[in-house]
Amino acid sequence: MASQEIEALASALARLPGLGPRSARRAVLWLVKRRETALGQLLDALAAVQDTLVECTTCGNVDTRNPCSICADPRRDQKALCVVEDVADLWALDRARLFTGRYHVLGGRLSALEGVRPEDLNIAGLLARVEAGGIDEVVLAMNATLEGQTTAHYLAERLETFPVRITQLAHGLPVGGELDYLDEGTLAQALRARRPVG
Ligand SMILES: [Zn+2]
Repeated sequence: MASQEIEALASALARLPGLGPRSARRAVLWLVKRRETALGQLLDALAAVQDTLVECTTCGNVDTRNPCSICADPRRDQKALCVVEDVADLWALDRARLFTGRYHVLGGRLSALEGVRPEDLNIAGLLARVEAGGIDEVVLAMNATLEGQTTAHYLAERLETFPVRITQLAHGLPVGGELDYLDEGTLAQALRARRPVG
């Protein structure tokens, strides 16, 4: 039976996605054994983001500055915009370092089952960015799930009236595949082989 403090730490960690109570306890033990090195590093990293985390009002990315470091980077291709469901997808694609443009985070995907409607997603922000001009290509990088593809079709229709090329990730994506879980090679391949929607 561990102390109250250790139990509190374990249960806080157990709430993290992908960690259950068992792996949370293992993480606690791991940290306790390395309190001189890893624990201090973790505390510093947490403290550094605690007060500074913001959502980018342009693209929806999460960063310590607004506009985020991707939106603010002048070396990024202003003409290409990649639309993703979630911030985790943005990070996954950006880790692959193949897309040099900017991003737009929808904040989810259309889902009749979960009652997610177009107005629940940041579609208005996307249309406003495209309408503002200067964008040649919109890459719809939705997950290869039914809901992801429904969302992509909906967006393609809404974007039809704008003078932009609309592409989507190639179907090298495994069916049901979520971008965040793909290895970078698969993701890179899907992005490289992107094709027009429709
Ligand atoms: Zn941004």
